[in-house]
Amino acid sequence: NQGIGSWTARRAGKTPDRLAVVHVDREGAGREWTYRQLHERVLRLAHGLRGLGVGPGDRVAYLGPNHPAILETLFAAGMIGAVFVPLNMRLAGPELAYNLSDSGTDVLVYAPEQAGVVDAIRVDVPVREFVALDADYERLIASSPDDAIDTPVGLDDDCMIMYTSGTTGRPKGAVLTHGNITWNSVNVLVDIDLASDEVTLVVAPLFHTAGLNMTCLPTLLKGGTVVIVPAFDPAVVLDLVETRRVTYMFGVPAMYNAIAACPAFADTDLSSLRQVNCGGAPVPEATIQTYLQRGLAFSQGYGMTEASPGALYLARDMSTAKAGTAGKPHFFTDVRVVRPGRTEAGQVGPDLTEVRPGEKGEIVVSGPNVMRGYWGRPEATAEVLDADGWFHSGDVGSPDADGYIAIVDRIKDMIISGGENIYPAEVEGSLYDHPAVAECAVIGVADDRWGEVGRAVVVLKAGTTVSEEELLDFLRGRLARYKIPKSVVFVDALPRNAAGKLLKGTVRGSYGN
Ligand code: ATP
Ligand code: MG
Repeated sequence: NQGIGSWTARRAGKTPDRLAVVHVDREGAGREWTYRQLHERVLRLAHGLRGLGVGPGDRVAYLGPNHPAILETLFAAGMIGAVFVPLNMRLAGPELAYNLSDSGTDVLVYAPEQAGVVDAIRVDVPVREFVALDADYERLIASSPDDAIDTPVGLDDDCMIMYTSGTTGRPKGAVLTHGNITWNSVNVLVDIDLASDEVTLVVAPLFHTAGLNMTCLPTLLKGGTVVIVPAFDPAVVLDLVETRRVTYMFGVPAMYNAIAACPAFADTDLSSLRQVNCGGAPVPEATIQTYLQRGLAFSQGYGMTEASPGALYLARDMSTAKAGTAGKPHFFTDVRVVRPGRTEAGQVGPDLTEVRPGEKGEIVVSGPNVMRGYWGRPEATAEVLDADGWFHSGDVGSPDADGYIAIVDRIKDMIISGGENIYPAEVEGSLYDHPAVAECAVIGVADDRWGEVGRAVVVLKAGTTVSEEELLDFLRGRLARYKIPKSVVFVDALPRNAAGKLLKGTVRGSYGN
């Protein structure tokens, strides 16, 4: 077995007594597994899944909050050649039924929190076996043998079907092979410098790519420790960093903003952190500065589910010199910024002419971490993967003269006003410089004169007041006139998905016209 289903055996052979996983539950109690213990549980679970009839190519899904069982299920499925399907725990019944049917899930492991939604759709989905985490799961492990399993699994075999975040529409199932996942982890280890004594705090959801593939798996490949908490809570994060001597963590920008807004941020002992890594959404300059001023090394990444996900990486020692960019391609991955183009049939074109420094274009990615395609959707795959294997991201980037690439925004979010392109992320970045702005989203609204104009939807920090006119005035000093939104709407909260990513479509639906 060359796949990731062999990792726990290899680790248990090399570093059996090192701590692999720490699980801190909602009450703050911790359970710990060494690599030997993790491997033994994975082995038993793999036998248990086999006993439920799971064979090579079958799909085993997990539904629930962050929990070590996600990792155990992933490794056990990989051990017997089955495909792991991490599911978003926030899905409502019909969405869940869609994902289970779409992926053709055979066995579903689910957490007690999800029992209600699972019961509601149980009869509508093709799932053969339901394994409740609080009952059947431990029984399955306890009642199964632990003798070695040697199913042949290669790097080209499917490892997981991971759904995209659904920021721009219905989530698509990206098929990631064992090779994709392995090469992404190798990229991370080469570039992000994770060490064998790393203590990685996992706060992003494990059913999304960053939490699982950027954070957990590279740490476990290297033999470090992952600390898993069920949900993101900024105060808990600060507490755990201090008490567990956390050395590394990943979060989306909204998480780092929430952590920095915590009263405890100023005097928690954060000295164990070697770096904090941020990505998954545009990173406001103000966020970077807050962390640099707190004395922390701040690194950044850009990627997508389809690339398992790492594409670009900005090392901590470049975070000031190249602030505003997402860095350079990961070691084994190629990234270009090209003139956007689609054939009339909607397929991505062969034109990979790179734009010049300072110009904008579409970011395309190729390498051993790029997916095989979307599960069961050849047309959707042809819209993003060209014949040479370049993945066309739909994101606008701009390279500088040194090859550092800034992420401008998504093509789909671009506002076209009087013939000028406005990238909402740039406007949002300037709004974040205002001391009263806690969160913001800029959307386009129809306008008779300009076609489209910008509208800022803003959440103010607690205890602050600022008027529409003051905010727009603030922007006037910082942005070209055509980029200034024509209106501001103040709201209490912005819609975000489970990963903390802004749901622009929902914002447009609620506050657009
Ligand atoms: P969907 O494809 O279903 O609409 P999604 O694209 O949000 O959802 P993900 O694969 O989780 O799903 O996210 C990848 C996207 O996140 C990228 O294509 C990009 O738009 C955005 N992104 C990731 N990292 C960064 C970053 N550092 N800066 C700006 N945007 C980023
Ligand atoms: Mg996407």
